[in-house]
Amino acid sequence: GFREPLVSSDDNLKVVVRVRPMSERELDAGGQKCLAQQSQQVLKVLLHPEPQVFTFDIVAGEAADQDAIFRVAGRPIVENCMSGYNSCIFAYGQTGSGKTFTMLGPGSEVPPATLADADDTRGLTMRVFEHLFTRISELQQDPAANARVLCRCSFLEIYNEAIADLLAPGAAPLAVREDLRRGVYVEGLCEEVVSSVEEAAALLARGAAARRVGETAMNRESSRSHSVFTLTLETRTAGAAGLDKLLHARLNLVDLAGSERQKASGAVGGRLREASAINRSLSALGNVIQALVEQQKSGLRSHVPYRDSRLTYLLQDSLGGNSKTIMIANVSPAAGCLTETLSTLRFAQRAK
Ligand code: ADP
Ligand code: MG
Repeated sequence: GFREPLVSSDDNLKVVVRVRPMSERELDAGGQKCLAQQSQQVLKVLLHPEPQVFTFDIVAGEAADQDAIFRVAGRPIVENCMSGYNSCIFAYGQTGSGKTFTMLGPGSEVPPATLADADDTRGLTMRVFEHLFTRISELQQDPAANARVLCRCSFLEIYNEAIADLLAPGAAPLAVREDLRRGVYVEGLCEEVVSSVEEAAALLARGAAARRVGETAMNRESSRSHSVFTLTLETRTAGAAGLDKLLHARLNLVDLAGSERQKASGAVGGRLREASAINRSLSALGNVIQALVEQQKSGLRSHVPYRDSRLTYLLQDSLGGNSKTIMIANVSPAAGCLTETLSTLRFAQRAK
């Protein structure tokens, strides 16, 4: 069975490796595996002549279901946000490894909110919405807390280092700005107030549909862009002497572009630009996470290269400091995916 692992909760960065089940196609091709789970933290890669062993906070094997992923990656993040801290959940991995399954569920459709509870395969995003709005209503009904929570959502996509607003499709690409009052923000990004799971799910579905339309129009795949769904919570608590206390927290749900090595050789024009943008932004993310981990270990402040990509720049206030980050590294167990699986595990290892 899959138990809640013993991970120290003060870890600001948690790495979960999720191994998806073999696909029909992989089984038809012989079903050879390159992975063997050793324990809840240890994954063995069957390399010749010597196998290689990797240790993570959690290894979620093929039997781990969506609820198990929610318990390790969703619930603690929502609790963190309710306490006023920013968070990020990243889904990393090669195309076909299960990133979108993890974040949204099977198929490309977002489950309708009304059916959500009945659907065991619904992804982390819907489960995060459900838990979040449950916690918000508990808080608002608690007379002792005397709190009001305002929740806003935004949904954007980064393709070729350009930011597109999925809630305002067709608008010009947006810029990242920084000022003392607002911190780092995306200028002109549409933010809509939501007050229920249904409303949040409707926004998610609207943005996902806009993303598909854009892809069809431009003849490209979702695997080549990053999507970032952000919930912003503003909690107002009535304090002593009529002074209100305001807590701000952001929760970012990020489905990253496919991590497969983008071949620059042979590619020209648009393809080449696309390949180098993906390589650059994913390695920038790896560099930022590694710098933050080193900072945390040494206790010394050092340079964190947030500005090396749009993704890390716009998430700057949600990475590092008191923020919590969960990296879900998705892999296929199939022998045919060995090279990409190894590269994903090595990426995830850098975060340790
Ligand atoms: P990615 O977003 O990384 O490209 P997908 O999430 O689209 O990958 O997954 C590829 C295929 O594998 C999909 O058909 C998906 O439903 C299936 N799949 C992925 N992870 C799982 C899982 N844990 N259990 C069952 N099916 C899965
Ligand atoms: Mg996907």
